[in-house]
Amino acid sequence: MGQYDILFEPVAIGPVVARNRFFQVPHCSGMPHLVPCGHAAMREAKAEGGWAVVSTEACSIHPTSDARPTPEELLWDDDDKSHLAMMIDAVHRHDALAAVEILHHGAAVANRFSREIPLSPRGGRLIRHRDPVHARRMDLADIRAFRQWHRDAAIRARDAGADIVYVYAGHEVSLPMQFLWRRFNDRSDAYGGSFENRVRLLRELLEDTRDAVGDRCAVAIRFAVDELLGAEGITCDGEGRDVVECLAELPDLWDVTVAYWANDSTTARFAEEGWQQPYVSFVKTLTSKPVVGTGRFTTPDRMASMVRRGVLDFIGAARPSIADPFLPNKIATGDLDAIRECIGCNMCVSGNNTAVPIRCTQNPTMGEEWRRGWHPERIAPRRTGDRVLVVGAGPAGLECARALGARGYPVLLAEARDSLGGRLIGESSLPGLSTWIRVRDYRQTQFLRMPNVEVYPASELSVEDVLEFEVPHVVLATGASWRRDGRGQSRLQPVDGWEQSHVLTPEAVMAGTPLSGPVVIFDDDHFYLGGVIAEHVARSCGDVTLVTPAAEASAWTFATLEQAKIQTRLLELGVRIVPHRTLVAVLSDAVETACVFTRKKERIDAQSVVMITEREPNDALYHELTYRAEDWKDAGLHSVTRIGDCLAPATIAHAVYAGHRYAREFQEEASGGFARERMVSPTSARADTASA
Ligand code: ADP
Ligand code: SF4
Repeated sequence: MGQYDILFEPVAIGPVVARNRFFQVPHCSGMPHLVPCGHAAMREAKAEGGWAVVSTEACSIHPTSDARPTPEELLWDDDDKSHLAMMIDAVHRHDALAAVEILHHGAAVANRFSREIPLSPRGGRLIRHRDPVHARRMDLADIRAFRQWHRDAAIRARDAGADIVYVYAGHEVSLPMQFLWRRFNDRSDAYGGSFENRVRLLRELLEDTRDAVGDRCAVAIRFAVDELLGAEGITCDGEGRDVVECLAELPDLWDVTVAYWANDSTTARFAEEGWQQPYVSFVKTLTSKPVVGTGRFTTPDRMASMVRRGVLDFIGAARPSIADPFLPNKIATGDLDAIRECIGCNMCVSGNNTAVPIRCTQNPTMGEEWRRGWHPERIAPRRTGDRVLVVGAGPAGLECARALGARGYPVLLAEARDSLGGRLIGESSLPGLSTWIRVRDYRQTQFLRMPNVEVYPASELSVEDVLEFEVPHVVLATGASWRRDGRGQSRLQPVDGWEQSHVLTPEAVMAGTPLSGPVVIFDDDHFYLGGVIAEHVARSCGDVTLVTPAAEASAWTFATLEQAKIQTRLLELGVRIVPHRTLVAVLSDAVETACVFTRKKERIDAQSVVMITEREPNDALYHELTYRAEDWKDAGLHSVTRIGDCLAPATIAHAVYAGHRYAREFQEEASGGFARERMVSPTSARADTASA
């Protein structure tokens, strides 16, 4: 018996049977009702890759639950069944079960699109929302109406082909959770006050759903057993446990999480693989029903251990299934080296949070399955035997060489440094980012299986070197460098005094250049680097001030669900965060800052200054090669192409994508564009209102 056989046992979930223990739990995609073909193809890739259950993301059941601009799934009326059915049919083609998660957001949405008044157990302000509107308190008739909408949506999900229908009380964004909250529910009727009353709605939804669809579909519950708020919230040794105990046998499956979403989807910077175990492990002791839980699981040994030790029945995954839709099949065939491990960066989440389709740092095909026809494991074979020289082994060059190698092209990959990885080397040495080196490790491991890919570390290539290779195609992935002069978004010109030796780039800090406190970090980049460099410096030399023109530290990390955690960590480490200020000048022992509104100036003491503002492409080699264009013919050179940061600096995900795209499109005729989906009128067009 193989050590992972336990992961491939079938498990019954009520009236249906999952063919193994790999369960893609509900996760957002930024696509469903707006990009239904793209959504269906993305989920289909996972079913094909071996996930026994593939879930939708949250499906809103009614216009009073409208999260726009978040592009989530809708089940508002019968017309919405068609796009859901597309996804379900795609999943069924590969013998997987389709799960549909229906929900009502209650007081967590402003209903910006539908313009309906938000509903709430108690009325008042919205939850985690700054829109200037209030929700109205639901009366008993509203609760009856809500139950009917929920029931109708469950029936629509079943009719669209669902095998599992979820009742959702996963986070604060769900109405039954809002009713459950002691701190929020102030009702004095049968739905407020005692625990039995506050849990009543959740119980009724489970009973309604079973009554409506339970003969054919399994009924699942997604429930947050702990909110990490201590006594103020749901806890796994308090009411979280009470809920599981009192509803134990009602659903066919327990999907258990830790709220809120930023905790459930914690990045690797803030939690390790499997960190939820202490919170969820009690669940199986209280129910005979199968339990699924997540933990950014990418290690087969840990997965098997979770099942063997009776913690979970199903290995739940959102992000690991995004980074590698074929993870189960790779474990099944013992091809563990081929697993593309999630790095826990949450670029996938950023798609949803910026209202665009999902993308992934590790898996450049994510979200491109339909519109570009990119399969996560299959790629067109080479057209010719042309050799390709890739210069630079950062994320862009590594993925370009890997994907060209997978196509069968002879590839030469030259890297100036002794180690491959480019920016990953420095960045993965920063606090909490060690998993990021997996972007390199996965690709480096693949090279070992590709005799057609030759890797040359410690090989900084000059123009002469490139021409001497006598290859027809050269790809320059030579990266970018941080500017030291402070030019960037808020400073269009260099900052006065930047030439002084105590002004440093992030690369210099990552390389270990000693700093003298007090240190000022000027963050005009707004993603993770300013915050994580501040953390790194604070841990080693104490006195750190982070100056930012934004309102908060690492402002763009709202998209990766990290901003509040970063700000909390920096404050706990004693980092002073100075918002709404830009840098005007660097003096010998201080910096001069200016308020971005009033321009009023202030000084902050500084013995070292770190500029994190803008990057400059390392494109000198490209310009030298184009200058030598007349020598190309003799060298047999036909094309020179820049990709990744050396063309336009961006995220690691952008660089991986650029490398993959070059390889996909190389010598292919139909390159460049992508298929677009367009909105069509519903089949039951509302002629009465349309003509009104
Ligand atoms: P990207 O994110 O676009 O992949 P990186 O900055 O991470 O960019 O990586 C670029 C890599 O290119 C670095 O590892 C760098 O050492 C390497 N490099 C830059 N110029 C040359 C060169 N002339 N020859 C070989 N390698 C180079
Ligand atoms: Fe994992 Fe990052 Fe990919 Fe999301 S984007 S699946 S966190 S590697």
